[in-house]
Amino acid sequence: MDKVKQIIANVLEDNQKMTADQAAYLFEFKNKEALSLIKNAANELRKDLVGDKVSYIVNLNANFTNICDSFCIFCGFRRNDNEPDAYILDMNEFEPHLDYNVKQLGITEVCFQGGLYSKLKINGFKSVSLLDTYAELLSWVKDRYPDLHIHAYSPEEIEFLSVISGKSEQYILEYFKGSGLDSMPGTAAEILVDDIRRKICSKKLNTQKWVDIIKLAHKLEIPSTATIMYGHFETSYHKARHLEILRNIQEETNGFTEFIPLPLIPNRTHLKDRVIPLNSEDRLKLLAISRLFFGKDIKNIQASWVKQGFEETAEALDWGCNDIGGTLGDERITQAAGGCFGKGVTKEQLVDIITSKDRIPMLRDTLYLYQKEKQPQKILI
Ligand code: SF4
Repeated sequence: MDKVKQIIANVLEDNQKMTADQAAYLFEFKNKEALSLIKNAANELRKDLVGDKVSYIVNLNANFTNICDSFCIFCGFRRNDNEPDAYILDMNEFEPHLDYNVKQLGITEVCFQGGLYSKLKINGFKSVSLLDTYAELLSWVKDRYPDLHIHAYSPEEIEFLSVISGKSEQYILEYFKGSGLDSMPGTAAEILVDDIRRKICSKKLNTQKWVDIIKLAHKLEIPSTATIMYGHFETSYHKARHLEILRNIQEETNGFTEFIPLPLIPNRTHLKDRVIPLNSEDRLKLLAISRLFFGKDIKNIQASWVKQGFEETAEALDWGCNDIGGTLGDERITQAAGGCFGKGVTKEQLVDIITSKDRIPMLRDTLYLYQKEKQPQKILI
């Protein structure tokens, strides 16, 4: 226990950065006393760094297709193109839906992520090539809603398009930025250790490629989130190494807006009977250690209501978190994997989570600028 106390004192009192070895050491502890020390330290650091404000965003996730040429064993979302529930976004339906979300719900962000489908065609789009189709989706939104922030396409999607089109990642990121891309999800990171990636997502880009694309995006002034997907075959060391890689990137680019841990939901995936499901303590502990590990480097630590549920999300506010993510609208990936916390919530529900812990709710945009509440537009018929 002395060593746990020493690691915490180094961070809180001496402003030292926690090492990966120290983080791995904390991940190993399961006893109540150590957990309580880690929780309280994370809560204290959260208060020092960001105070009692807890942010959330009103946004819409649009997973534009579930057809995927790749295969990741943790994924319950992908389908082959001949399966009955395979789908591609229908723009005739999406157009009024997006309009409603912008004008009535006041979304400030739309997020596009989808399966990797080399034959993707979107109805009504002029584009012939896959790369142009992805770009057209961005410009289609920007032409209609110039102020709506577009958060889209993970490093995996950039790599996929690079292979298909023969264009460089830099060319693609610049092309997308010119078409309306504002920021990127830092997903497809899973665990940034190749031994683990080979086991859970062998067709995905490797660690170095993920790092290179994220750094390139940041260099081109396309900020991103940072994520971890854990609860499968990783050890404490792998989690700690992952955090270290993210912090190294942040020290170099300052391009991460926040850190979002994504606990695995294995229920409807190939990992269902192969992993020990995470419990609440595992998830809360990872949030708390992340807060201590990232310190001033990444100040926004997000709990995910869609993965953790409302009750645990509220509890996470005492374990170092200062953000509870977005309303999400049509998010389908977690549900497809067997997540049971629903699809899309109202901002009032998010505010209730925050005030249940006597914290101050703050509506934010994607880049963590606090927003004034907007009144929905009146429909003129
Ligand atoms: S995680 Fe993404 S890339 Fe992997 S199978 Fe699922 S949809 Fe495809």
